[in-house]
Amino acid sequence: MSRIQAVKGMNDLLPGQIGHWHRVEAVLRDVAWRYGYQEIRTPVLEKTELFRQAIGDQTDIVEKEMYVFEDAGGVSLALRPEATASTVRAGNEHGLFHNRKQRLWYMGPMFRRERPQKGRYRQFHQFGIEAFGWPGPDVDAEVIRVGTRVWKELGVAGVKLHLNTLGSEASRTRYRDALRDYFTAHVDSLDGDSRRRLERNPLRILDSKVPETRQIVMQAPSMMDFLESGERENFDSLVDSLSRSGIEPVIDDRLVRGLDYYTGTVFEWVTDQLGSQDAVCAGGRYDGLVASRGGHPTPAVGFAMGLERLVELMSVQDIPADGGNLDVYVISMADQQTAVDIGEALRDAGYRVCEHCGGGKLSNSMKRADQSGARFAVVVGEEEQAEGSVQLKDLRGGRGQVRVPRESLVQTMREIG
Ligand code: ATP
Ligand code: MG
Repeated sequence: MSRIQAVKGMNDLLPGQIGHWHRVEAVLRDVAWRYGYQEIRTPVLEKTELFRQAIGDQTDIVEKEMYVFEDAGGVSLALRPEATASTVRAGNEHGLFHNRKQRLWYMGPMFRRERPQKGRYRQFHQFGIEAFGWPGPDVDAEVIRVGTRVWKELGVAGVKLHLNTLGSEASRTRYRDALRDYFTAHVDSLDGDSRRRLERNPLRILDSKVPETRQIVMQAPSMMDFLESGERENFDSLVDSLSRSGIEPVIDDRLVRGLDYYTGTVFEWVTDQLGSQDAVCAGGRYDGLVASRGGHPTPAVGFAMGLERLVELMSVQDIPADGGNLDVYVISMADQQTAVDIGEALRDAGYRVCEHCGGGKLSNSMKRADQSGARFAVVVGEEEQAEGSVQLKDLRGGRGQVRVPRESLVQTMREIG
């Protein structure tokens, strides 16, 4: 019989890697908490229409990457490709933005039917924060500082911040016109997707990954030349605030991001240590999204971080994981209840303990103790059982084996350290 394999591009996270995940998740929760952000959990399924409207129907995600199906009632549903649309939907639905500001974070799996490769999967995980209710630029700088602190707390080095602004509705409209003129003049060198987007959405072309199109994009007009003076001031004050926190962004006037809802500030952290999937975290301001989804006009800014890429970066940089090994492996050659009682007493004292199960010869049980990775083995034979003692064996530190009374086992382990 053929064995059924996992769905292509969807990963099992195995025990050997999970320590890195736990470390990343713990740091992210802690950092979010320390900046006053509160968690929101939304369903992985939403109505397809939500993503189509929020993300934009000329984006890669909506045009080709969503997992869409019809449920029995004939409603089209999609596995979420990102969580900002869902967060906005939930905020509107529950009145979270009504005369209130919100700092929110989320973490969980996202789904995009992309070509699987290293750093690009069909189920992947994102952590994101969203700040609703502040027009910036102060909160833009805060959101960027949250990301920066994540790198710092994890000990990840070499992620570089790229920063741009997409301006206001008015300046972006003028920029869009200029881009359309420019790309129309180079239409023969554009890829098919970009040609299709030329009329309605020329900004999307700046995000193209096709090498020939990228050549053309390099020479395109810059948004910076279309900003109105207030917008320029806001952008400069953001750069200044970051600089005062020791964050020096690369100003990257080609950066537009792959979703239509962005306005104003956009940014991305990239690294040169992950090959071609080099973006670890990306985000920006989306002042129009809440109102466009039927809510009160609410300015907003946020980012989403790709956890697979972050975990990979930790491995590349040899950053230690959480977790680690067992402390104690308990073997009783007398009766199993003795092993269980010793195990529970050690857990009461805070140790991580496994009792040997399945019986067998002492030599085999000792092999298991060794394979378990535990620091100590505790062995009880008939003799020790009779006198209420145990053999404590140091499996790693080379301190040999000592016979100790059961009641002083914890004490002795603490002394050995
Ligand atoms: P890319 O340019 O790499 O396709 P994106 O612009 O589509 O990224 P966003 O939608 O902004 O990415 O998502 C934020 C982050 O989520 C990315 O910077 C990346 O770290 C991660 N990410 C996005 N898509 C995937 C994927 N298919 N597999 C793994 N991580 C992903
Ligand atoms: Mg993408």
